[in-house]
Amino acid sequence: MRIFKFGGASVKDAESIKNMLRVLKHEGYENTLIVISAMGKMTNAIEKITDSYFYKKDDLQENIEFVRNYHLKIINELFEEKNHPIYVEVESLLGQLSGFLIKNKSTDYNFIYDQIVGYGELLSTKIVNAFLNENNIETNWIDVRDYIKTDANFRDASVNWELTSKNISTLNSKIVYLTQGFLGSNSNGKTTTLGREGSDYTAAIFAYCLNAESLTIWKDVEGVLNADPRFFTTTQLLKQISYNEAIEMAFYGASVIHPKTLKPLENKNIPLYVRSFYTIENKGTKVGKGHDLVPEMPCFILKQNQILVSISALDFSFMVENNLSELFKILHNYKLKVNLIQNSALSFSVCIEDKFNNFKQFLIDLELKYQISYVENVSLYTIRHANKIAVSEIEQKGKVLLKQATKGTVQVVMQ
Ligand code: ASP
Ligand code: MG
Repeated sequence: MRIFKFGGASVKDAESIKNMLRVLKHEGYENTLIVISAMGKMTNAIEKITDSYFYKKDDLQENIEFVRNYHLKIINELFEEKNHPIYVEVESLLGQLSGFLIKNKSTDYNFIYDQIVGYGELLSTKIVNAFLNENNIETNWIDVRDYIKTDANFRDASVNWELTSKNISTLNSKIVYLTQGFLGSNSNGKTTTLGREGSDYTAAIFAYCLNAESLTIWKDVEGVLNADPRFFTTTQLLKQISYNEAIEMAFYGASVIHPKTLKPLENKNIPLYVRSFYTIENKGTKVGKGHDLVPEMPCFILKQNQILVSISALDFSFMVENNLSELFKILHNYKLKVNLIQNSALSFSVCIEDKFNNFKQFLIDLELKYQISYVENVSLYTIRHANKIAVSEIEQKGKVLLKQATKGTVQVVMQ
């Protein structure tokens, strides 16, 4: 079997969904399982619903209407028949969402988030499935929550591989399935999510459990580039990347492929193709066994909105094992993601990401024993396969706060 994954950009409006039909007709869709994300930026929009609901803001209804109208506009453009059953399906999903908002008693933000945000994928897959069926592609919509089983760590759930494999093995390779990315369910059947941008990972889970021959991720870029075109003016396409190189790139923050996606594929040696849904005649990038990087060239990875923290002990003692192990424990407890560390005798510097808004509390906790200085809103650049020209190109972008080099990888913290 093959797995195709279509992300938000590939289903962001009626035009894009029609283009997806073109991709399927061109590539063929026999023995294919299709994974789809929420449309366009709908996950962000639905996050706003979660926020308004949780914090009892008065824009709740407005935010729901925005999501509703976004989808209605698309189905209006996709389906000529004005009483097509998809209208009822969309309203019924939105009805379920409103029902949850009324009935919910939980005060756990992460639980509530997952129950609400999952509607993005449910809506997109219902609509795309109906559209494909209407155009003679007999996809079968399945609820991914019946297949991917996870723990109850809402917003960042871990997969229960045993149950998941068992469920997925019941799928029939002759049928073309269409399902949601990003979602799973826990042992109580409650919706969980695999972390933002987790649909690639969903596709990899299916690929792994089905021993798929390949996974193709369809994107609005030509493939994996050596830098993010949003931040770099000249970029080049990478034709081949080894699993390890791709894992390293994802680890440093390359956003094309979700970091968790690669391991399951590597374990079963399933090639990953990253291709453009615009230029379908092009081959894009292959991630798989073989050369680390073809063509070989410096690759740039940017992480914005970092905090560079410098920590030293109040009693001027050295920053050694016992201090460091304590610091790492605290960083872990506050879910502060460490992206770079540098240590000297008296001070320990760390570049972190505060995804869960815990930094202020972390400071309060730490200031009892340590002296801390920090710079917020810095950028961390990582250059793989670095050379002098590449490094100086980055250094020209601002003020270098910290620089570190290891085996061809150079990291620079810039203000
Ligand atoms: N819709 C989800 C998100 O935007 C999952 C994904 O797109 O991969 O994070
Ligand atoms: Mg997305």
